[in-house]
Amino acid sequence: MHEVSISHAIADVVLKESQKQEAQKVLLVDIEIGELSLLNPEQVEFWVKLALDKTIAGEAEIKIEVVKPEVLCTACGYEGMLETKDDPLYHFVLPVFKCPQCGSGEITVKRGKECKIKRIEVLT
Ligand SMILES: [Zn+2]
Repeated sequence: MHEVSISHAIADVVLKESQKQEAQKVLLVDIEIGELSLLNPEQVEFWVKLALDKTIAGEAEIKIEVVKPEVLCTACGYEGMLETKDDPLYHFVLPVFKCPQCGSGEITVKRGKECKIKRIEVLT
């Protein structure tokens, strides 16, 4: 799983950003994870916490928000959520990307693949 390397990258950004702001302490780290990123949110939280341990962000609250996938269909112009089945298997395999409106496979994923830091709250 690539949660470990991504979490270290997130921790790096958090520490660099808090240094830039001359923070004494990081209070909150808000992370956005797309459902299609295939990252396990609990794992990311765990590894980010571990990577930040014994730093000024060691006691920060890690908030993880899972973003539902959003697509744009080039065939019919549908724009919106991608239908995902509530199947436990879904979390391990990539869903088939099809437009929920016309069934076309010509869709672009607009949201849902990302993993990014949305917000960092620091104490200066
Ligand atoms: Zn369509």
